[in-house]
Amino acid sequence: MRVGVVGVQGDVSEHVDAAQRAMKEAGISGDASAVRRTTDLAEVDALTIPGGESTTISKLLVKFGLFDEIVRRAEDGMAILGTCAGCILLAKEGDDAVSKTETRLLGLMDMAVDRNAFGRQRESFEGEVSVAILDAPFRGVFIRAPEITRTWGRCEPIGKLQGKIVLARQGRLVAAAFHPELSGDLRIHKWFFNLV
Ligand code: GLN
Repeated sequence: MRVGVVGVQGDVSEHVDAAQRAMKEAGISGDASAVRRTTDLAEVDALTIPGGESTTISKLLVKFGLFDEIVRRAEDGMAILGTCAGCILLAKEGDDAVSKTETRLLGLMDMAVDRNAFGRQRESFEGEVSVAILDAPFRGVFIRAPEITRTWGRCEPIGKLQGKIVLARQGRLVAAAFHPELSGDLRIHKWFFNLV
């Protein structure tokens, strides 16, 4: 399995590392590498979109010709895991901060996000996320994290913290408001790779 990590901005190396470790732990043969060009994207079976700054990542995706190509591949069935800024980009609806900055969202998942829902309270924190697809809670690392405020259509909420949706799934698309690549717990990655 070849896993690509959108490599234009954000915690790219942490994502590459987590994907490699998760594949190893799950006994999946494959590799992970950064995707910066459309030729890189053409070579991967699944994609992760890291945390970072959603406005910057979006602009750079457009600049490098990756934006439309990611949408096309996703519509073709490619699995995508978006974390934090990546979660925001997967949403169909943003909040005022998204519209004010004219951030183009990939708009692949039937969900709305509030871009800095937790960040307004605290810059970063860790919390126990109850996750429907895991048998025990997941310790999530939240950094200026968004909240998934609403899901509809084919998108289902699968993880909550303090009653707020922080993990959602729509077929092979998965959005996490937190950073599963940073906690050392690779259960979400391993589950995601099984969807690929
Ligand atoms: N709140 C940030 C944004 O709007 C995301 C923060 C993160 O990815 N850690 O892009």
